Amino acid sequence: MDDTAKTPGQLRREALLYQPKNGYDRLSAQDEIAMHSYCEDYKKFLDLGKTERECVETAVALAKARGFVPFVRGMALKAGDKVYRVNRDKAVTLAVIGAAPLIQGANIAAAHIDSPRLDLKPTPLYEEAELAFFKTHYYGGLRKYQWVTIPLELHGVVALKDGSTVPVRVGNGAGDPVFTVDDLLPHLASDQSKKPLGEAIPAESLNLLVGSRPFKDDEGSDRVKLAVMELLHEKYGILEEDFISAELEVVPAFRASDLGFDRSLIGAYGHDDRVCAYACLAALLELEGVPARTAVCMLADKEEIGSEGVTGMQSAAFDTFMSDLCDGQQTALKRCFEKSLCLSADVTAAFDPNFTEVFDKRNAARVNYGVGLCKYTGARGKSGASDAAAELVARVRRILDDAGVVWQMAELGKADQGGGGTVAAYMAQRDIDVLDAGVPVLSMHAPFETVGKLDCFMTYKAAKAVYQAK
Ligand code: MN
Ligand code: MN
Repeated sequence: MDDTAKTPGQLRREALLYQPKNGYDRLSAQDEIAMHSYCEDYKKFLDLGKTERECVETAVALAKARGFVPFVRGMALKAGDKVYRVNRDKAVTLAVIGAAPLIQGANIAAAHIDSPRLDLKPTPLYEEAELAFFKTHYYGGLRKYQWVTIPLELHGVVALKDGSTVPVRVGNGAGDPVFTVDDLLPHLASDQSKKPLGEAIPAESLNLLVGSRPFKDDEGSDRVKLAVMELLHEKYGILEEDFISAELEVVPAFRASDLGFDRSLIGAYGHDDRVCAYACLAALLELEGVPARTAVCMLADKEEIGSEGVTGMQSAAFDTFMSDLCDGQQTALKRCFEKSLCLSADVTAAFDPNFTEVFDKRNAARVNYGVGLCKYTGARGKSGASDAAAELVARVRRILDDAGVVWQMAELGKADQGGGGTVAAYMAQRDIDVLDAGVPVLSMHAPFETVGKLDCFMTYKAAKAVYQAK
């Protein structure tokens, strides 16, 4: 329709009103092709990285293949150089040195690579009624009833007193066994079924079934436990006491899969926040030439438990890396930070038509409407949010529009319905301008989360646009 055929109302509506469109009505043919190949690579990243350690390993392998080298303190760097530093095998920061000096600030994208799961307790193995189990302690905000009667894998490391580390990865290899947490049969669940959802599966009942066959020719107690320990000793050379210094994570045994007849969605474990972590990583690895400012990708651990710990975003490890880069240019870290821009890339809640009551539909992110920008997160009147400045939101709108990124504004749920946080607050504490942006997710924190491919790809494009910003 040409403009002469439009009514005055139509013309004024188009000129004045904000009318977001489905991303598929805005997607170029070229972007559609790139989106499909990007999502195939993302699914591979998910299947390889089911823990923060595995994500670091995978990220480093991809980075090395793209010419990144480990950063050594004092190393002379020039524009275009690509470096990374791994923090205790659980977090990694990567950088491409820009044309402008660091005193003019860096362009940062930060995401987290830890996801909700069940961790093994320090003394996990026990036998009850001739069945062997691992005791678990859940990590992150998970809905316990979702973690029973699904196939589970065991990933992690056992650190030995001699200083060596034994990797463990059971469930995702060809022919591997899986594990599970059992639940009541409906026939006997009449009492349990009356309990509120949050109480029906107590945390201490999340015990992982790991064996049932007793040790042969033995009259003693705990024969099943002994037989399991014997197998673990044979395979990994570990003793029961070694669990004390282990980090073993129980994660869903699902592969990342296309979802829907039209394959427009991806179902997988760990989209939160590997969907943004991969976007930030892939965008950095694919930067061509020398960016105007130094581009930094931060993949942090421990976000799901408050960004605490030496590998979390509150750790000084990030400052140390950035300050090492600044030292090479005789620049004070604070002068770099005050001029820096950060995209805190973390997922947001997608409007779910099955649960409309918890969303403000005028402000909720929608699947296929692109990367969701969140000016603020938090709970109870924005408490805990960094609440980005209007000027910063405007700057990011400009950056994304100039780069042809499909984006939307997002708020996580109705006011006073709940809330959440991200690493944004910890970047703001460093005097870095920061805005939350990420992929809208259905069933966030469930063992099997769902995202739209278009939104995954647009988050990648957003990260790239931020890295390339002047
Ligand atoms: Mn997250
Ligand atoms: Mn989360």
